[in-house]
Amino acid sequence: MIEANNPSLKSWLEIPVNSDFPIQNLPFGIFSTNQVTSRVGVAIGDQVLNLSALYEAGFLPTSPDLPFVESDYSSSTLNPLIHHGKSATRQLRARLSSLLRDDSSELRDAKKMHSVCMISQRLVTMHIPVNVGDYTDCYSSEDHARNVGKMFRDPENALLPNWKHMPVAYHGRASSIVVSGTPVTRPHGQLKPSEEEPPVYGPSRLLDFELEMAFITHPGKSLGQPISTDEADDFIFGLVLFNDWSARDIQKWEYIPLGPFLGKNFASSISPWIVTLDALEPYRIPGPVQDPQVLPYLDYTGDSNYDIDLEVEIVTPNGDSKVVCKSNFKHMYWNMRQQLAHHTVNGCNIRGGDMIASGTISGPEEGSFGSMLEISWKGTKPVSMPDGTDRRFINDGDTVTMRGSKRSEKGVSIGFGEVSGKLLPAN
Ligand code: CA
Repeated sequence: MIEANNPSLKSWLEIPVNSDFPIQNLPFGIFSTNQVTSRVGVAIGDQVLNLSALYEAGFLPTSPDLPFVESDYSSSTLNPLIHHGKSATRQLRARLSSLLRDDSSELRDAKKMHSVCMISQRLVTMHIPVNVGDYTDCYSSEDHARNVGKMFRDPENALLPNWKHMPVAYHGRASSIVVSGTPVTRPHGQLKPSEEEPPVYGPSRLLDFELEMAFITHPGKSLGQPISTDEADDFIFGLVLFNDWSARDIQKWEYIPLGPFLGKNFASSISPWIVTLDALEPYRIPGPVQDPQVLPYLDYTGDSNYDIDLEVEIVTPNGDSKVVCKSNFKHMYWNMRQQLAHHTVNGCNIRGGDMIASGTISGPEEGSFGSMLEISWKGTKPVSMPDGTDRRFINDGDTVTMRGSKRSEKGVSIGFGEVSGKLLPAN
């Protein structure tokens, strides 16, 4: 077991009940305040640890195990920190854990430093945590792929022939990935109202969310060097919640033959705290049986999936809200190690701060579908909202919020916080 995950660890800091950020989590992000420019922070309870302040105060001395220097902590992105690789970031989390545990007096008794090294989360602005070099979106939930296939192709033969042989994916757009809280504007594009009519230009009418998670990478191998499923963990830094906003009408008309483009690249929203893969270790569970057997380069043994409860809430312009989806990250057919192995099997190189999203995470039952397309079944089953309106897709002024956590009565509860975004009318 990774010692920082030990469920018996307690912090001398008071952690609110059911906080997403107990001492066993320690996710990394980029924060600023009125006094402090953007820099690296770690969430603990309702506080943010200011790592550059901890470093300056001597709590994080540079060593072979902890190779970080001041500029890694005062950087406005996590890329320099992630660049040091898995072993270094693991040591850093271990060091922070040991500073915070209740049998450690070092930081606890340095009371004068507390106001410099710890800031209430209420007082910070969170920023996009990494400069995303490349972003890839997978399509790895069987229930999602099956639902889409049933709606648009053949209900009897919903999955395309390649789907169970490889984690299908496309290269997305990194520049429009935004942090939680950033409003998203309804995009314009080409729409085709019906088979018979010619295309028109206008605002998307079928604006949707996609409930996803994404992993962020450490620097990978050189161009031409694949990463195997067994090696993949060493290259995965951590995960965020990911809302892959989608304009279904633009997507439907444009995607043949080259795939997603303007229906997807206008915005994707992420949660600000990157939960490390290490912190998720206790939540690993077996994945699905993959039949047919995968090709050897995709073979993976061990607990491949993660038990993280996910939900999507829509808040209407007048403040009424409804949870429209309860899903779980365990509903993945293809796991992250397979996604990374497939991504690099041709020698494609990954860099530190690349983002690879799961694809929409739908579960098997109604109520666990991860997009309005599926929830309203192409608009045929509108969702009633508490204010008397209904939703087939997302309306102007709606706020979509996704949350991810695992609550435990006896053990440790852990979470990702949330990713939230309000849809603004088209310009
Ligand atoms: Ca997607």
